[in-house]
Amino acid sequence: MTGPKIHWLNTLFIATMHVSAIGGALWLISNFSWATLSLAIGWFVLSGMGITMGYHRCFSHRAFNATKPVQAVLTFFGSAAVQNSCLKWSSDHRVHHAKVDTESDPYNRKKGFWWSHIGWILHDTPVEGSMQNVADLERNPILSFQHKYYFFFVAIAGFLAPALIAMAWGDFIGGLLVAGCLRLVFQWHATFSINSVAHTIGTRPYSLKNTARDSILTALLTFGEGYHNFHHRFQSDYRNGVRWWHVDPSKWTIWSLSRIGLVSDLKRASKDAIRRAKESVQREKEERKAARRKLATK
Ligand SMILES: [Zn+2]
Ligand SMILES: [Zn+2]
Repeated sequence: MTGPKIHWLNTLFIATMHVSAIGGALWLISNFSWATLSLAIGWFVLSGMGITMGYHRCFSHRAFNATKPVQAVLTFFGSAAVQNSCLKWSSDHRVHHAKVDTESDPYNRKKGFWWSHIGWILHDTPVEGSMQNVADLERNPILSFQHKYYFFFVAIAGFLAPALIAMAWGDFIGGLLVAGCLRLVFQWHATFSINSVAHTIGTRPYSLKNTARDSILTALLTFGEGYHNFHHRFQSDYRNGVRWWHVDPSKWTIWSLSRIGLVSDLKRASKDAIRRAKESVQREKEERKAARRKLATK
């Protein structure tokens, strides 16, 4: 039996970026600049938010409505994270939720940690019903424009814009290699860890039906997306960390923007539904424990 074929374009691009990221790290060490380092961190935050707030919560799950300018900014910075167009990303993500932990899940954790982290991107992974589940998003002109000119957006938002900004203090190469490539490699592994680490490490307070887990570790890496067990149970909720003290900067930003009218219609699961989910997990755990005890005494 032969395994899935290598996706050469993705593999070569990802390999080149990792080598360029090493170049970026060496450049930063030998030509250290606070301005370039701050730009890289700022770009990491903005493009990370483009994915978590934009691609994920606003578009894939429609957990809140955003005004057109906010949508445009989120889509621009989402492009800088080089994770496909928002339409394709959302389509894959909706399949992930609908078919989690099955052969049809593009980043099926049950196929192994490596597969769910990056293996699925390095291989030709046909996704069942791909793009048929985003008809609602295809009607959005911002998203269809980004989809059509995706590579142009990647070049500008991912690399050219930070390089041109860094030219202001004479560090075009630093802007390109540090805020472009090195930042991107960190960004990839942070996002990828949602599909791998957040389906491996942590607790399952809201559902035992899938491998998704809540962990502060992944939440810290990904602006709050690490409360993944809650998210799989209540995917339309604009919060992933549901308690006020849960580390979820995406939730705090969405809430803050709603205060000044830039986003609206924040969806929340009811307190009652959340309590019932937790109680049912407790019951299921006790039933499992009782079944194990019965088996041991036989
Ligand atoms: Zn998941
Ligand atoms: Zn999701």
